[in-house]
Amino acid sequence: MYADCIVPLPLEGVFTYSVPTHLSQKVQVGCRVNVPFGAKKQYAALVTRLHEEKPAYQTKDILAVLEEEVMLLPNQLKLWQWVAEYYMCTLGEVYKAAIPSGLKEKDGVVRYRPRTIDCVRITEEYFDPFKLNAVLSTMKVAPKQQLLMLKYIELTGLGAALTLKNPQILKEITKEELLKAAGCSSTILKAVCDRGLLEEYEVLVDRIPTGQIPAELIIQPLSQAQQVARDAISGAWQQKEVCLLHGVTSSGKTEIYIHLIAEALKEGKQVLYMLPEIVLTSQLTDRLRKVFGDRLGVYHSRYTDAERVEVYRKQVSDQPYDIIVGVRSSVLLPFRNLGLVIIDEEHENSFKQTEPAPRYHARNVALVMAKLAGAKTLLGTATPSLETYYNAIQGKYAYVSLTTRYGNVAMPEIEVVDIAEEKRKKLMSGPFSPLLLREIREALERKEQVILFQNRRGFAPVVECQVCGWTPQCPHCDVALTHHKRNNQLVCHYCSYSTPVPHRCPQCDGDNLSSKGYGTERIEDVLKNIFPEARVARMDLDTTRSRSAYESLIKGFQKGETDILIGTQMVTKGLDFRKVTVVGILNASTMLNQPDFRSYERAFQMMTQVAGRAGRSVSSEENRVGKVVLQVHDASQSTVQQVVRADYKAMFTEQMEERRMFNYPPLCRLVYVYMKHRDENVLEHMAEELAKILRMVFGHRVLGPDMPAVARVQTMYIRKVCLKIELEANMAEVRKRLRELQAYLLAKQEYKSAVMYYDVE
Ligand SMILES: [Zn+2]
Ligand SMILES: [Zn+2]
Repeated sequence: MYADCIVPLPLEGVFTYSVPTHLSQKVQVGCRVNVPFGAKKQYAALVTRLHEEKPAYQTKDILAVLEEEVMLLPNQLKLWQWVAEYYMCTLGEVYKAAIPSGLKEKDGVVRYRPRTIDCVRITEEYFDPFKLNAVLSTMKVAPKQQLLMLKYIELTGLGAALTLKNPQILKEITKEELLKAAGCSSTILKAVCDRGLLEEYEVLVDRIPTGQIPAELIIQPLSQAQQVARDAISGAWQQKEVCLLHGVTSSGKTEIYIHLIAEALKEGKQVLYMLPEIVLTSQLTDRLRKVFGDRLGVYHSRYTDAERVEVYRKQVSDQPYDIIVGVRSSVLLPFRNLGLVIIDEEHENSFKQTEPAPRYHARNVALVMAKLAGAKTLLGTATPSLETYYNAIQGKYAYVSLTTRYGNVAMPEIEVVDIAEEKRKKLMSGPFSPLLLREIREALERKEQVILFQNRRGFAPVVECQVCGWTPQCPHCDVALTHHKRNNQLVCHYCSYSTPVPHRCPQCDGDNLSSKGYGTERIEDVLKNIFPEARVARMDLDTTRSRSAYESLIKGFQKGETDILIGTQMVTKGLDFRKVTVVGILNASTMLNQPDFRSYERAFQMMTQVAGRAGRSVSSEENRVGKVVLQVHDASQSTVQQVVRADYKAMFTEQMEERRMFNYPPLCRLVYVYMKHRDENVLEHMAEELAKILRMVFGHRVLGPDMPAVARVQTMYIRKVCLKIELEANMAEVRKRLRELQAYLLAKQEYKSAVMYYDVE
């Protein structure tokens, strides 16, 4: 017998191994096996097929079967194959992306321990008021032990539990909490435990004791508008597999999801609830856990590998999580009985993986996944992607809209400020227009909160010599270095190269280097000068390196410990902050001037989302609406006007016209062919040659070669050729041609150290 296997390597196809007789009973399709590879490597491979077709080459034996369970389910394999085909990568690359590293190691047997926490409780023997009092009185000679016991009694409510003779009502307390409260060391606790009074035990961290509470009690009733939308979605699913829920910001989409999830669970189905990384906060998972308890599993890239292994293993077990809430990669997880897929913030760019392969779009993969499982899909957003909205108006997806905010909170009022004009009149205070400053000041006076959005981190995007105009560039990439003031470094945002800011200009030796432009760090500085009494916090990549830092920024803001939150696109997401009444978009022009056919669409989405953070004034009785100040260089720009009027349809119509005129998605499929090389001349040659051959096959569908916006990253020069393929074309044929071409080019001696890859969509 032979077994075809996927190995976790970026190589084409599957590899065939022979199954030794002693393993023939154990090897099955989908199980994990140890296989030798090359001269002395071993990998944990996944079996995709068992057969008796002897290959033309000498096969090696499978070395061991790593566990009895099947780790790759049939539909999951089909989906992986689709991903590899569609996104033009290898099955091994999909395997690498899909499986936590703990399950890819060669010996495979990962002895992971579920995360536990040490807790302390009274022993059964001393859950007795007489015995307890007796021993407490003897403890006078050991005052620290006595203190520890008294703290234990106080913190757990032991008195009441003894009176009611019910140990169940004791509050669970961790060892750490108890020691901290009593101000004792663990030696004291050990002594008390040795006397048989207390005992330590372990609790699984994820165990949330809500299992007993009936879900119905915690599900909040829907508002009338939400209920109408919910019913419309259920109705739409009778006709179509996919439904778009187009609900304005703060319309309470999450509550609708919760009701739909509960419905699917009632039917015994599993649910995948996918959202962008920065939206998956502990506030959201706490909210979901209150309803669904331990039926909910969380799959997050910021979790440890052991935690992800745990979720993966549970999904292939016979008691999988009923709901997985997760980020992009959760779409590659195993599901046995999927009934519903929810993709929240479906327009979000972060669903697309750009590096490394598979360069997949999780929304599109999820749609295929749902189709394979016969599940329903809900796409939710306030600002649909053009692709999704196009599919909705073409009738491919059902469409449900929700136009009122939850609690009848009014939509914010958006005021545009032309900062070019203000600059000419010399009215700007750094990055702030007089209007924005006035709005901030008034919000602070009313004890309300402000969010400021600038899509640029660091102190200043450009440092310039005032004498000769020199600006520092990254030595490895074709970009200017960003000034970070806190550590006084110049940093490359592409490769993380950093170097101290020079004192003198290296070109002319002049000593007048000045910072131009505003990053979040500099805005924070300016703000602290103007409003020294305000509590300012900054949320960007630099301040949220750890998961806890991100969560605590959100919590601090929610609790009102911060007056002004300044940040990059991170502040456009997350929870609704009811006390935010002013939102400032500092410079919308940087978003509008991106060299990408999607830049207007994205700018519209980003501006609308960040504007949506502004709620109603809570302190005022006159029911003032939230205010958004949108600063831009050209106020007449049509995208800006569409944001002001909250006119999604106008944006859609205008952008679709352009896409039609220049033939861009959703009216065609885009395939980018990227080439990288250390030698720019070699790369130029290769790119020209590729484009020439591509034109012979694909004719006018080929564009380029072009230099991407950043044409060198980490010392590798980059070129791209763009292919525009008709929607109805046979993609399998396209892929076949491209692969042949790639093999032909890379076989040439002069291109052998070149890198070539594809990015579809
Ligand atoms: Zn100079
Ligand atoms: Zn760099």
